[in-house]
Formats: sequence, C-alpha cells, structure tokens
Amino acid sequence: MTISLYRTAPRPRRVAVLSVHTSPLEQPGTGDAGGMNVYITQTAIEMARSGVSVEVFTRATSSEQPPVAELAPGVIVRHIPAGPFEPLERHELPAQLCAFTSGVLRTEAFHEPGYYDLIHSHYWISGQVGWLARDRWGVPLVHTAHTLAKVKNAALAEGDKPEPRTRVIGEQQVVAEADRLVVNTDVEADQLIRLYDADPGSVRTVSPGVDLHTFRPGSKAAARQALDLPADAVVLAFVGRIQPLKAPDVLLNAAARLLRRHPWLRRRLVVLIAGGPSGTAMGQPTALRELASSLGIAELTRFLPPQSGQRLVQVYRAADVVAVPSYNESFGLVALEAQACGTPVVAAEVGGLPVAVDHGVSGILVPSHSADDWAGALDLVALSPHRRAQLATGALRHAERFSWKRTTDALLDAYTEATSAFQGAALGVAV
Ligand code: UDP
Repeated sequence: MTISLYRTAPRPRRVAVLSVHTSPLEQPGTGDAGGMNVYITQTAIEMARSGVSVEVFTRATSSEQPPVAELAPGVIVRHIPAGPFEPLERHELPAQLCAFTSGVLRTEAFHEPGYYDLIHSHYWISGQVGWLARDRWGVPLVHTAHTLAKVKNAALAEGDKPEPRTRVIGEQQVVAEADRLVVNTDVEADQLIRLYDADPGSVRTVSPGVDLHTFRPGSKAAARQALDLPADAVVLAFVGRIQPLKAPDVLLNAAARLLRRHPWLRRRLVVLIAGGPSGTAMGQPTALRELASSLGIAELTRFLPPQSGQRLVQVYRAADVVAVPSYNESFGLVALEAQACGTPVVAAEVGGLPVAVDHGVSGILVPSHSADDWAGALDLVALSPHRRAQLATGALRHAERFSWKRTTDALLDAYTEATSAFQGAALGVAV
C-alpha cells in the first residue's frame, strides 16, 4: 500500500548541518573552501529567515576557535575537536571521523531528546557521520555530495591525481543510506543513479542560487578604477580555486592565442585571476605564474588573492568576459555570480555548466579545452561590443532565475519529503 505522507510531515524546527572538512566561516576561493561553503552559508541564512534554526558542525582547525560561533541570527557553527588543531589534508580526515562523530553525538546528548529534527550532510565525509547520527537520533538524513569521485576521475586534467577508491566506497555507502539525495542538476541525478545505483525515488534536483543583492550590475569604469585597471582594457577574468580541475591554464593558453590573432591587443589585454591554490596545485603555487611567463603574457596577467564577495563584485563588473574552463563542475557558482553582475560567461560544456550558462543567450559553452576553441569563443564575446551587450542582457535575465531563497524553499520541501519517508519507513508504509 502506498500512503502519501509528504504533506503531513512538518517542517523541521532545527537542522544539524554537517560540514566536516571545511567551515562556512572560511573565506572561499582557496584550499578546501569554495562553492560548498557559500552554499551552506547562504541556505542556512535563508532557512533561519524562514524560521528553521541551523547548527553547522565542522572540524576545529585552531585552538583559538570558540566552541560555538554565530554565523548569522539563527545560524551557529560548532567547532568540533577531532585530531590536531590545524588544517588536515582531505585524505587524512577519514581517520578522524570517530572523534568527530563522538563530538557531534555528545553535543546532542546535552540537549533534550529530539533536539535536531533532521541532518543534512555535505560531501561524502560528512555523509559518513550523518549516517551514524541519523540512526542514533532517529531522524532523517539528507545528503548533498557536491562532487563525485567517479565523475571527477572520468574527466581528470592531464597529470591530475585521481580520487582514491576509499572515497568511491564511502560515497556508495552514503548513497545507500541517505533518505534523500540532493543534487544540483538533472545531469548529476543521472550520474548518481547510473554510477552509484542511487534509488531514483530518493534523488531530488535543487538548483543552487546566487546572492542577487550582492551580485548585481554596476559601473564597469568604477570597478576598473577600484582594481587599478585601465578604463579601455580588454579584461578576461577567472575566479575560483586554482587547481588543475578548474583549468585556469586553459584561459592563459587561449589568451596567448588571442594575442597571436590580434597583435594590437597586447596594449590592452588584461587576464585577471582571483583565487588561491587548492587541491593538487597546493604543492605548486607558482605554476600558473610560470605558465604566464612561458607564454609571454606575464606582464598582462594580474593575480589577486581570494576576494570577499564585495570585492568579487568589482572583479565581475570589471571583466568583459568571465571564463569557467573547468574539466568538471557540479554547478559553477562563479558563472552565476558573473552573470548576475551582467557579465557574459565563456564556460566549458561540462557537468552543471550548461544549466548555469544559457548557451548563446547568457554566454558561450565550449565543447573542448583546446586553446584555439577557447580563443575563438573569447574573441567572439570580448572583442565584439554588440555581441557582448546582447549576452550581458541575457546574462542578467538568466541569473535572475536563480536565488538562494528559491534553493532553500526547494531544500525545505526535500526535508519534508525525507521526514515523511523516514517516518513512513518506521511505520512500515511505503511513501
Ligand atoms: N570565491 C570567493 N572568493 C574568491 C574566489 C571564489 O569568495 O576569491 C567564491 C565564489 O564567489 C563562489 C565560490 O567561491 O561562490 C566558488 O564556487 P564554484 O561553484 O564556482 O566552485 P567550487 O569552489 O565549488 O569548485
């Protein structure tokens, strides 16, 4: 018998969000901090606004962090000691999961029973913790993978290190255990079902959002002045964690090709790169600068350290084009942020980027990573004012379709469904 309990399950009052390997309090754009941190922060704030308290559990990486910090009204971050008070490599974290889980369970044990109504884990390492806490507390587990090892390994940059088998196994376990799996796009839903045997009934597609109050159009001239860029420059920007997977080298190679096509451009071209080293690039922080030198464009390339959201707005507004050349991208928040500022995007046609960018309307999708193809696409947008103006209008319209409020409302629906499914399973009825 199938009884629909979806509408009867109440919204959670308090959600435990698990983010073991990175904290929403960290500056995104380097190391392990990126789109997931922004996602957790923005959806937590929106949840609190709609009356749902959020407690984020993350591993303490410094003895100076308070046990509890307020992120925003209704949102706290709990720093759980697990291993040394210092950053750990991601592959070292599974060894700390017992300590972390014990910290999470102890926190809950200080409260009255039923303190948390639901667990939302982010990334497979947190899913492992969530699975155990779910069984102990008798509440549903919602999981978001953010990236998947099998997908990443199928599209590695040349020379990049594959994700280990332990991660694949860990992901598989979480997929089997979670009550609902939230994915960014239907492509990712299909990957979970095809590659990880996920039950299609438990997968929910929820588009990420963009902070439309922060990322909005503004004066290009003022942004260039703020960044000390010439008013008449042709600016190609890359924003994000600098690692082989994100392929900022594709932009540099394409910029060098563009100069070969248009030698006059040398006087005006600026390649702006905002972000810090991450992943396998941590060991080679100067590799990109060396590449710029070897391509003869070092003096045209400007590197900015990881920027706050307010400063990024200036980067997006100053740019003629924002490039997202990644080999894989489960969504690509940078693409949405740039478009929300009215800047067209040239992106690789991979993962969620075809959802984040409307090809021909808000930007251009490039089906390869070849420098020639990229130079062609950049040429089309950056050097054609008419085309760029058309795409800029399309970019704004496209970005307006996404907001964190919309994401959060859909997440809350997934929570209600997960609660119904969980309660139904406890009662022995199918939902
Ligand atoms: N970001 C930032 N400062 C920087 C570079 C990036 O705050 O200097 C943020 C950016 O605004 C975006 C996130 O990092 O929200 C990157 O998300 P994306 O989905 O593009 O990539 P991910 O990091 O998830 O791989």
